[in-house]
Amino acid sequence: MHRFVSELFPILRSITGQGTRDTLGRIRERIGIDIHEVPSGTKVFDWEIPDEWNVSEAWIEGPDGDRLIDFRDNNLHLLNYSEPVDATVSLEELKPHLFSNPAMPDHIPYRTSYYKRDWGFCLSHHQLENLKDGNYRVVVRSSLEPGVLNYGELFVPGESEEEVLFSTHVCHPSLANDNLSGVALLTFLADRILKADRRRFSYRFVFVPGTIGSITWLARNESRVARIQHGLVVACVGDPGHFHYKKSRRGTAEIDRVVEHILRRSGEPYGIRDFSPYGYDERQYCSPGFNLPLGCLSRTPHGKFPEYHTSADNPDFVTPVALEGSLLRFMEIVECLEQNRTYVNLNPKCEPQLGRRGLYRMMGGYADAQEDQMAMLWILNLADGSNSLLDIAERSGMGFDRLGKVADTLTEQGLLTSVR
Ligand code: ZN
Repeated sequence: MHRFVSELFPILRSITGQGTRDTLGRIRERIGIDIHEVPSGTKVFDWEIPDEWNVSEAWIEGPDGDRLIDFRDNNLHLLNYSEPVDATVSLEELKPHLFSNPAMPDHIPYRTSYYKRDWGFCLSHHQLENLKDGNYRVVVRSSLEPGVLNYGELFVPGESEEEVLFSTHVCHPSLANDNLSGVALLTFLADRILKADRRRFSYRFVFVPGTIGSITWLARNESRVARIQHGLVVACVGDPGHFHYKKSRRGTAEIDRVVEHILRRSGEPYGIRDFSPYGYDERQYCSPGFNLPLGCLSRTPHGKFPEYHTSADNPDFVTPVALEGSLLRFMEIVECLEQNRTYVNLNPKCEPQLGRRGLYRMMGGYADAQEDQMAMLWILNLADGSNSLLDIAERSGMGFDRLGKVADTLTEQGLLTSVR
């Protein structure tokens, strides 16, 4: 995953344009996504697909004729969606078009101007402070013309038409944690799910430009969203910080309980936040007209790490260990969703005689066997058609993976059947 982050890092991405198409192409090489295109000018709910943005060069030359800024060195230097310009301007005229971040004075900030036509450059605060009076040549060779918005989508069918949706944003240029970490994680998670022997749910992975992309996906899939039973927006999952989960707007959706259960059992510190209408694409998926059961899982949340939206969010900031830990957590969440069935005990009048069926001490070492026995007793007692396996996990304080395995054994023994 870290190699994939590094491979995608130099590409200039935005909400439209060749770099985003190329990024989706690299994902397609790995997991065979469909790359959709929607023409500029298309209405999507209250929004409209903007003109496509592409850039060939962008630089500033100082009064001495030295090239001070070149977006080839770092594509964050260019205000994302900058309109073209070719002019010679004084420092005073230039300054309103320059953006720096005094809180991170050595680093270039990331700025966009998608919906207001403007041109501009981003630079470190130190560099800004050292600009001297005189005339500056500014050149942005960009085009803003009717084209398309692209997004990527992979559907992986399961036994049920009910879907689990995973969504991540692909519009940020050279920023690693936000959000090539999310792109890499979803690519690898999809690969694992494609290779699974069986799947109870169908899975849908969408790689969208932030905001306009999820709005476009929802506008084109409105008739299908009722199938979505669970989902997660994925972002910022490669830094070494702890996990933070932002609940769905519903607050008590199964996905909210599953993620909290997995994080609680992980033994690591974690944070849970209630839904708020600010953040990533959960804002669209959880808008009142959809109210889908999607939360957002990150490590350090957006805006809470100093590297956020600066050139310090580079491939050194994300680690292979953090990426792998994130993938494992997402796999556990998928496993929990897959196994969270509701069962009925087929021998509910008094306890069944487990010894006769060889169900005592049948698995693992001694300590494990005792835990398995407790798991059997909890499941057999609470499996009355009203408690899900997650309910039983929460009431018993036992781990979901153990309960899932024991439920499978009891089902094979004819003591249990699933009703949901
Ligand atoms: Zn961002």
